[in-house]
Amino acid sequence: MKLGEIGEFGLISRLTREAKNPDVVVGIGDDAAVVQDGDGYMLYTTDMLVEGDHFRMDWATPEQIGRKAMASNISDIAAMGGIAEFALVSIALTDNMDVETVEGIYSGMHQVADRHGVEIIGGDTTHGRIMVLNLVVTGKADERTLSLRSEAKVGDYIFVTGPLGGSRAGLELLLKGLKEPEGPIKKHLDPGCRMDISREIAPLANAIIDVSDGLASEVGHICERSGVGAVVEKERIPLDEETIEAGRIAGKDPYGFALNGGEDFELVFTVSPGNLEDAKRFGTVVGRIIEKDKGIHLVDSDGKITSLKGGYDHFRNKD
Ligand code: ADP
Ligand code: MG
Repeated sequence: MKLGEIGEFGLISRLTREAKNPDVVVGIGDDAAVVQDGDGYMLYTTDMLVEGDHFRMDWATPEQIGRKAMASNISDIAAMGGIAEFALVSIALTDNMDVETVEGIYSGMHQVADRHGVEIIGGDTTHGRIMVLNLVVTGKADERTLSLRSEAKVGDYIFVTGPLGGSRAGLELLLKGLKEPEGPIKKHLDPGCRMDISREIAPLANAIIDVSDGLASEVGHICERSGVGAVVEKERIPLDEETIEAGRIAGKDPYGFALNGGEDFELVFTVSPGNLEDAKRFGTVVGRIIEKDKGIHLVDSDGKITSLKGGYDHFRNKD
């Protein structure tokens, strides 16, 4: 059987086995693993960036590559309602790489780490035929803030914290050799993460996930883990002007960038109706959580209902 037949998530579910250690609160299946630690929780996440797939040295500066690697990992801790603390950095470097390039990547990682109070405390260095950068980031959460993908409730409002699709729009422009509009290109090469507001969202939210693979994929993960369905209103998905412009240039639907593109590192979160007004400070409503047997749908502006499928899959989406 080939990986393309089952995809990234099909593979992960085949590799998953039940944790034997009773301290494991959540193992595989959320943005970070959750392990009981006294009255609180330790969080563990890892994300890998591979040259050619996640970054290109001719598009991104070393600092941007470092910042993206650190931001994408810290984003997973934000998606748990946690505070990030420590990072381990493993790098595979190619022949003839300049020392300055590696220092630039570290400078980028340190910029983001410093912003969020994260210390790089170890790692591994080796040789490879392409460059690979893998980070492990640990964090902490407590009962009040811990937010799992599995806690969405029927009737919840689904929020997103900011415009989506920018990163994919930027990639489309870069693939065409374009340097403008600049906004989406910056979002692709140098994304942030929403640790700035995640700690305020967490006490209000039932479920949180970050947008690494596209809104369709992330809503699907929440539904699968929570045993619920969802309806997303396409027209409510926030897109910024430059992402729409990039869609025009690329001849593609910018909503497709938001639904299936990923790497926006905004947060998708669900809140009970009682928290609706409070939550509006942190994002916009794109849909509702419904009963599982009603399905997972996308409703477009003229009321047409389609299945909300898609999202980025490393073994199925090949550009
Ligand atoms: P995210 O996009 O939030 O980083 P992923 O989609 O990469 O999460 O992974 C989904 C879940 O599967 C996470 O809980 C992650 O830890 C787990 N996972 C991914 N790859 C592996 C693997 N090779 N072995 C074990 N667990 C994995
Ligand atoms: Mg995630």
